[in-house]
Amino acid sequence: MRLKFTLRECTLLFIFMCGAATASYGQTPADRLATLKREAANDVDQRHVATQQMIDMVFSFGELGFQEVETSKYLTGILRQNGFTIQENVAGIPTGWVARWGSGRPVIALGSDIDGIPQASQKPGVAFHAPLIEGAPGHGEGHNSGMPLNITAALAVKRIMERERLPGTLVLWPGIAEELLGGKAQFIRAGVFKDVDVAIFAHVSNFFRTAWGSPDASTGLVSVEYHFEGSAAHAGNQPWTGRSALDAVELMDIAWNFRREHLRLSQRSHYVITNGGDQPNVVPQQASVWYYLREIDYPHIKELRSLADRIAGAAATMTDTTVTSRVLGSAWPQHFNKPLAEALSANIEAAGMPTWDAKDQALAKALQKELRVKEEGLETKVRPLQADVPLDQNFGGGSDDVGDVSWTVPTVTLRYPANIPNLPGHHWANAIAMATPIAHKGTTAGARAQAMTVLDLLLRPELVQQAKQYFAEQTKDQKYEPLIGPEDKPSIWLNREVLEQYRPEMRKYYFDPTKYKTYLEQLGIAYPTVR
Ligand SMILES: [Zn+2]
Repeated sequence: MRLKFTLRECTLLFIFMCGAATASYGQTPADRLATLKREAANDVDQRHVATQQMIDMVFSFGELGFQEVETSKYLTGILRQNGFTIQENVAGIPTGWVARWGSGRPVIALGSDIDGIPQASQKPGVAFHAPLIEGAPGHGEGHNSGMPLNITAALAVKRIMERERLPGTLVLWPGIAEELLGGKAQFIRAGVFKDVDVAIFAHVSNFFRTAWGSPDASTGLVSVEYHFEGSAAHAGNQPWTGRSALDAVELMDIAWNFRREHLRLSQRSHYVITNGGDQPNVVPQQASVWYYLREIDYPHIKELRSLADRIAGAAATMTDTTVTSRVLGSAWPQHFNKPLAEALSANIEAAGMPTWDAKDQALAKALQKELRVKEEGLETKVRPLQADVPLDQNFGGGSDDVGDVSWTVPTVTLRYPANIPNLPGHHWANAIAMATPIAHKGTTAGARAQAMTVLDLLLRPELVQQAKQYFAEQTKDQKYEPLIGPEDKPSIWLNREVLEQYRPEMRKYYFDPTKYKTYLEQLGIAYPTVR
């Protein structure tokens, strides 16, 4: 029998024993909330092995957007075992799901993305490019950690809700195909947020912070594929009888790149040619080009789209081809809720940064050195709440379709410190920390803040009211109108072939927690491995 208790276990035991007693001795609501928050934070810490296993497991699946098959099966399995009711095939997306537990209000939605990045396969804990499988996808953003964070936080809160008989409903939902901005507008249209009072989103970061209003360096976007149809011909014998769809694609791209000089500085636009024809001696009958059109507000995104449509039409006219388009994804610019962000920020402060050890810092610095960026290691201080950045100070940047959610219900995003600073993003380097103690500790710290914030919402009804008031003000003049049309279905065919190609090989590397404590152990990687 083990008789030694850690300090943390003693504290937990103490709180446990006191819990029932103090409640009946007229504890003030604020004292009760503070006590329950401490209990939840300690419970999250106790669950760190389970959190680590979930992070390592999802990392090992390394699935791309719309193909999160193993990931969704695994995460819903855990939630089901813990009493959640699972709705599958949400919004007609085979990997889409929603998990619910509890009853009554408030209805609190906890979300996070689960998809990976093309060609980002990487051995964790190794501070240089070392793919597990050359060319395979991987978690080169860190989306393997967010749902584990939410599940850990939800289970800690659920235990308290059961004992204290707190009314409220927890709704856990995954960001499907976030890297394609493909899932959230579809989830909204399918009614996932219909009865939701507030949403807390969790996103991996290298810092610990939240924000309200519009974040800086961010955009919304519409992702559109233009498809041209011409007519084939023998390119040597009778080229004059053919009409090249590839010509149309090239002319569209040239026109866009000339026009780019006369677009607002806040726009970002980029494209890849997804179909450039079959072989040179056949005039391409079909060709396609896929654009991301980004701007900092909804009206300007619509303007970019309409310009791209006109340019595509003009390219078709010039080449005597025809053009059609389809939306593959979309994201509204984000706007986060101030009262929610203030509550979350206080809990981030209370949760505190993880304690990094020399090995964690050594991995971070070695990777920063490898990438020739500032060698400053890991962040050690919580960042203060970031305030709204006015649109005229937003010079554009990336997008996240949680923006759509933020215009549908009061929403805030928790950024938790589970990755290394100064990395390029969407890159193998961003996968290196994501199945190491850096991700494990950072996610646990994030789950502490998440659990405490859910308790705030359950025990301070006025916070939910304030969040709703702020949201009413936010949406007074600007209402959410989806950037997807009624006919735009989720683009669930994307990435299918890539996974069909790599999954058999990737399967050999799935994490097996029955044999190994950690994924690093399973792979036989010394932590950290540096040059
Ligand atoms: Zn992301």
